[in-house]
Amino acid sequence: MSRREETFRAVRAKAEVSVLILGGGINGTGLFRELSLQGVDCLLVDKSDFVAGASSKSSRMIHGGLRYLESREFRLVKESLFERNRLLEDAPHYVAPLRTTIPLPSRLGGLLRSMLIFMGIKVRPGERGLLPVKAGLWFYDFITRKDRRTPRHVITPKAESLAQLPGLRRDICATATYWDAWITQAERLCIELIRDARDANPNSLALNYVRPTGIEAGAVVLTDTLTDRTFAVRPKVLVNATGGWVDIANASLGLETHFMGGTKGSHLVVDCPPLHKALDGRMVYYQPADGRVCIVFPFMDRVVMGSTDIRIDDPDQARCEEGEIDYMLTTLRGVFPEVAVSREDIVYVFCGVRPLPGGQGKVLANVSRGHSLKVVDADADRPFQTFCMVGGKWTTFRAFAEQTADAILPQLGSPRRCGTAHLAIGGGKGFPTTAEAREAWISRVADASGLGRGRIAALLARYGTAAEAYAMGADAEAERPLESLPDYTAGEIARIAAEEDVEHLADVVCRRSIIALLGRATGDVLAELAEIVGAALGWPPERKAAEVRRALDEVRVP
Ligand SMILES: Cc1cc2nc3c(=O)[nH]c(=O)nc-3n(C[C@H](O)[C@H](O)[C@H](O)COP(=O)(O)OP(=O)(O)OC[C@H]3O[C@@H](n4cnc5c(N)ncnc54)[C@H](O)[C@@H]3O)c2cc1C
Repeated sequence: MSRREETFRAVRAKAEVSVLILGGGINGTGLFRELSLQGVDCLLVDKSDFVAGASSKSSRMIHGGLRYLESREFRLVKESLFERNRLLEDAPHYVAPLRTTIPLPSRLGGLLRSMLIFMGIKVRPGERGLLPVKAGLWFYDFITRKDRRTPRHVITPKAESLAQLPGLRRDICATATYWDAWITQAERLCIELIRDARDANPNSLALNYVRPTGIEAGAVVLTDTLTDRTFAVRPKVLVNATGGWVDIANASLGLETHFMGGTKGSHLVVDCPPLHKALDGRMVYYQPADGRVCIVFPFMDRVVMGSTDIRIDDPDQARCEEGEIDYMLTTLRGVFPEVAVSREDIVYVFCGVRPLPGGQGKVLANVSRGHSLKVVDADADRPFQTFCMVGGKWTTFRAFAEQTADAILPQLGSPRRCGTAHLAIGGGKGFPTTAEAREAWISRVADASGLGRGRIAALLARYGTAAEAYAMGADAEAERPLESLPDYTAGEIARIAAEEDVEHLADVVCRRSIIALLGRATGDVLAELAEIVGAALGWPPERKAAEVRRALDEVRVP
């Protein structure tokens, strides 16, 4: 019996659960781990695949949020920098320091505007010059002075800046370079949180493609969207962690709320070696004339750029539109005028909805990225409290999960058993963090498994130390490289299909790997993958063909 069937049986058999969590993005999966570690049994459900929402569509910055200093969100920046440093420590297999450069058009530009924003006067942000940026970076360094994990910022004069980044716009007075962090495999970290939760508490269960469809006699009715079967669950506490969908999910349970005011943001992934080279391995953080903040950074052999910020009511309608593509290509030209990037270079596009709190004014860039917990009391129809997780950043998910768990545990009469600030996640456990330790790890696992050192290094980068278990069980047949994508092997894909809640082919390329993100989910690759995934999951030939069509539709560049 598949794990999904076993899970359905287990849920039906007990029909009660301490905490039902709706939404398997970073906030839902983070809370699932947090509570499971405290011995609380949870059921996590996602209406789509896990991590199909904003959590797989972010800019991948694990950051303090330099620009939030301007709006005096010191607590948020402090918390974010603390969490950034924890992720560098707890998920070193995917989170790494990132050198970030800001081109500065003038010395004093934007000072008055920054001061007005600082004083709480709502004005549209604009280009910031050396002085306001320097003040922000000084504060950034100050906050992390006792927990320094990245170098301090530096201001580089114009001539030197242009020598380092020859493609950069020439009308600058200097550049500022500071360090934040980025996450390579955001999707996999969510999947690893689910795995860690299940390992910590076998009574915690997780199901993707399951949504709440109503309330019956005080129980939440859940529908398996793959088969249309329904079942009822009585939670002691309900958590709505559906991000941009919070109000919509509440409505499906008969609750009218107006917590959210989401905005959509799109990114482009381009295959453009001259731009890759021009970036010199760093992120460039720039401000087009409209005052928004945009970023461009090398991602493996591709370049990612973004993003837009457009109000949207229904997250299911979020798509990257033509106008957004034009905006991103045009604003990039403003910062790298010499580097030609065209629409033909685009290999992937993604768009997600920021779960921002509603009712915070018209200047979208000024809406707080902080998080809060909204509690709806129990009533006769819903005899359980509903905790809604509103807002937040990817970076701060652990803190948000910790705070939410601390609000829920007293309701359940359960004490906190452990903290998570210094607890490694998934393949981050025992990860070799120095060059020497890494070499030793690779040699040891290569010798023990018989696989080559290059292959072990690739597996370590992809799965962290969890690579060892795979490598030890991989025989020659499993290690057969894919014809269409020789970086990956058949055994690796089969393992993902069998162990990581895969229901559709697109789950593998979009949310268990970065195959789609790198623009490598072509027809040939999908056809070959469908054979392997189909064999693991028992798909008949017509299902494999349908899965290829569905995946092509999901990864299509508009
Ligand atoms: C363009 C963009 C760029 C960003 N960049 C950054 C960044 O660089 N750094 C950073 O820290 N943060 C960034 N963020 C913010 C960050 O991505 C989000 O704050 C975070 O991912 C929100 O996670 P979540 O779990 O709350 O929501 P989501 O990831 O959206 O997850 C919600 C889940 O709920 C599911 N769902 C919806 N309705 C239901 C239902 N009725 N029942 C069950 N499940 C349901 C969805 O399928 C989805 O999987 C960015 C966001 C965007 C959109």
